[in-house]
Parts: sequence; C-alpha cells; structure tokens
Amino acid sequence: MKCLKLACLIFIYSLLSVYNHLTFAQGVCGNEYFEQHVKLYPNYFSEYKSFSQQAPIHNQRAQSADLITIPVAVHVLHTGEAIGQGANLSDKQIIDAIQYANDLWRNANGNSLDMNFQFCLANKTPQGLPSNGIVRVDASHIANYKELGMSYGGVPGANEIVLKNLSNWNHDYVYNIWIVSKISKENIAAFAYYPLGVHFNYDGATVMYEYMSANSPTLAHELGHALGLYHTFEGSENSCPLNDNCSNQGDKVCDTPPHVKYDCELTQCSSSPDVYNSFLNIMSYCWQRILFTQGQKDRAYSQFYSTVRKNLMNSKACQIICDSIHTQDIQYACGNSKSDTVVNIYTAINGCDSMVTQITHYNPPLNLQMDVDSLSLTNQYIFHSDTNQLSGNFMKWYVNDTFMMRGASFIFDVKDGRYYVVKLKGENACGLDSIEYIIDRTKPTSVKNQYLAKAIHVYPNPTDGDFTIVLNGAIQGNYSMMIFDELGRVVAIKKMDVIEKQEISTKQFLLSSGVYQLIVLKDGFPLESIRLMLK
Ligand SMILES: [Zn+2]
Repeated sequence: MKCLKLACLIFIYSLLSVYNHLTFAQGVCGNEYFEQHVKLYPNYFSEYKSFSQQAPIHNQRAQSADLITIPVAVHVLHTGEAIGQGANLSDKQIIDAIQYANDLWRNANGNSLDMNFQFCLANKTPQGLPSNGIVRVDASHIANYKELGMSYGGVPGANEIVLKNLSNWNHDYVYNIWIVSKISKENIAAFAYYPLGVHFNYDGATVMYEYMSANSPTLAHELGHALGLYHTFEGSENSCPLNDNCSNQGDKVCDTPPHVKYDCELTQCSSSPDVYNSFLNIMSYCWQRILFTQGQKDRAYSQFYSTVRKNLMNSKACQIICDSIHTQDIQYACGNSKSDTVVNIYTAINGCDSMVTQITHYNPPLNLQMDVDSLSLTNQYIFHSDTNQLSGNFMKWYVNDTFMMRGASFIFDVKDGRYYVVKLKGENACGLDSIEYIIDRTKPTSVKNQYLAKAIHVYPNPTDGDFTIVLNGAIQGNYSMMIFDELGRVVAIKKMDVIEKQEISTKQFLLSSGVYQLIVLKDGFPLESIRLMLK
C-alpha cells in the first residue's frame, strides 16, 4: 500500500491515540514546573525570566549541511545495584537510549526531518583518560536519595546540587546527563535546563532510569529543551495557548500550532493543517512522539549558536581515536642500559585524535655469552647462546672458521685427536660480538703423525706480521693456520689456499709484539706447531 507520508502517520496515529492516557500516567516532563523549580537558583531564575520573556533570537534558517555533534557524558547515580539492575543501567541500555535519541534527531525512521544534531558519548574524560562517557556512582549515601530520589520543584528529596556534584564534567566539554533512581515530584520522568547565557553548574538533563531506554522519546525530548525548544503546548495547560504572534508566544515556533496539553487529536486551538506537527511532536506529551519540524530545527540552531551550547563545538570529547594501536618503535643509541619505555602521544591527524604509542628501546652493547654441555660418552657438545639481545636467526656458529649454522643453540660431534675452535658470532644494531670455545682432543693420544707433513717452515721469523708458511710434502686437503697467544687463546685464524707455500698477513688482527704459537691444521686436525715471534 502506498500512501502519502503524513496521511499514513495520521492513520497509524488514530489507531494508537486511544492509548494516550495510559502513556501520560507514566510520567511527565519536569519542565512543566520549570519556573517553580528554578526559583531555587536566584541567578539562573532571573536569567530564565528574561530568557522566556525576551523577543526570540532571530530564528535563522538552519543550514542543512551543518551537522552538529554534541558530546555527552552520562552519570549513573545508582543506589548500589549491580550493573544492569534498577537505576544502574548497563552500558548497552544507555548506548541504545542515546542511539534512539539520535534516530529521532536524525530522522532515521523517515517520519520527520533531519535536525542535523547528533549526540555522542565522550570517549575521553576531561583529563584525557580513556572513557566510554559513562560514569557510575553509588549515591545511596546521599540523604533522602534512596527513599525520595532527586528533589525537584521544591518537593523534598535528595539535594540536586549534592547529587550532581558526585559526577559533573566540564560544561564546555560535554553536555551532562544524570540518570537517577527517582525524581521527588510525583510523575516526573525527566527535566532539562534551557541553554542560558551563563555557565550554570547544574545545567544538563536528568532522566529517571526507566525512561532511559531504546523505546522512549524522553531523552530526545529533554535534549530538545537543552537546545532551547519548548513544549508544543507551552503557555497553557487546559486552555489554548496564546498564539497571536507564533514566533513570540507559546513554543515560539510557527509550524507547531498551539494545542492544549492533552489534546492530541482534536484541533480546537488551531485550524492549521499543520496540527499533526504538534500532535506527533517529540516536544509534546502525545502518544506518538516521532517528529520535529523545520521551525524547531531553525530555533535549535539559533539557540545553539547564540548560547553557552556553542562552546561544545570546540570540544574534542568525541573525537575518535583514529588509530589506537599505531605504534612507533624508536631505537635509541647503543650503550644505554635503561629499560624500554612506552609513551602514549596524542596528536591531531585529519581532524581526529590519534594516539601514537612510542616504544623506546634502549640497547645495551651486544654481549654474547655461551653455555656448553659436554657429553663425554658420545663426544657430543651442546652449545647454548646465553643472551636475550638477539634472536637465534642473528647468531651464527662456526667451527675452525667454517660456517656451520644459524640458531640459538648448536650441537657438535667431536673426534679424538682433533682441535676445534667453536665460535658464536652475532650482530645487532649495537655492533658485533663473538665468543669462542676451544675443544682440544689432541691429548692424550697424539695423532700428530697420522698425516704426513715433513716440515713446516715459516719465514721471516721474527716477523712484522707478513710471513710465508711452507709445507714440505703436504698432501691434498683443507689447510688452515691458527695463532695462539701466551695464554692459549686463539688470536688469529686463516684459511690456506695454497698448500705448498702460503703467504700470510696477520696485520688485520692487530697483534702486539711477543711470542705466539702457530699451528697448521689439515681438515681441522693439527699437524705441527711452531713458535712465532712478532716484532
Ligand atoms: Zn519537556
């Protein structure tokens, strides 16, 4: 079935209007008694009097492109219930209620027009700490709160100021919404302060918890008051409100015809075809509160830009953290032994707040250590690197200068009669380090003569580091030479490419003058040693 939107609404509305009085019985908006209530606050009261009497601020035509986002914080003033019980609404209930208010303000259901206002839960406290915009406070200790709820309209109850001071965020940062267990004046579901020109510490909306839900228009209605909208029946309860000048009487909006508070289907106050703008209006008490009008949109815009509300435009409470897991690793200079530190930095990138986590690494100099297990029965050695400064992939194992493998550990089988230098080399940003371990299996069984080398001759000796090794009668094999210092430590290793007569330079090893032992090895097996004098 296809029908004109308004005609459909009227049809649906007629079906539902029979339930009107059931709805009214549940609770009304405290702004009906606003003047009586704000007498408690003389400064606010006098400003309110001039606000309500003043000629309206020129209702600018709202620009459709200007979407205004108002950050909100929800303060749950419960009485000790578990989360999700009674007044201690769950996060989901609160988020759903705000979503429904947004649906009504942004015309998600297509019944109305897009007011171009939206409301978002703050994602940071005013101090910049992460938050979901919901604060829970057990207010059961506040006098009269558990029994009577928050005092309103002079009716005894817990003091409004004391309750709001339990949790109250900066008013230029968020619009505050307090959820309460009860409001002391009978049948009051909620109330909200109008946007006056001064900062008023208790400005905000108060909603009884039962009305903070995904199917109640109460929050959307109170946010209307927060942006300066009045009830569509403003100015009269039981008789038609004055409306000689629609922009300065009643709700001061011209496309919401005046009506009696509970008149939601007759047209006794107006013959305008726009009456359903009032009967279906979110700022009415009628059963179907599903729309705002262009006149209300214009007024809300004017109110926003000409009152304290405009300060919320500069709030960063809802700026999303664009890239919350973005991290920067910073390698600091080597040699610093401080532990790593993590620093969170907030920067504005592309209009949103980006949190950058910087991890600063302080690198001590590379210092390789080695553990060795030797299993004598099997002639097997098991080497473990003992450092957490490198991953195994950056550790290389060598035996007699021949690369064997990468890894944090190395298993090596040895044979009797041989001499091995097992070396672990590593490299990181702080440089190179190596450590070596000598396995001398030449004793007690000397196998020196197993391979024939008739004579090793070195000249010149003493030498300045450049010398020639001559092997007489050497047979085919892999030859190398090693030099040991007086403490028996290996100080130089070189492969020998030419067997018979190899020219060697040890200058790269920067050896100091003294007496050394030079050993020539064939296939890792020591053949002969000779005293080498370095000048
Ligand atoms: Zn109201």
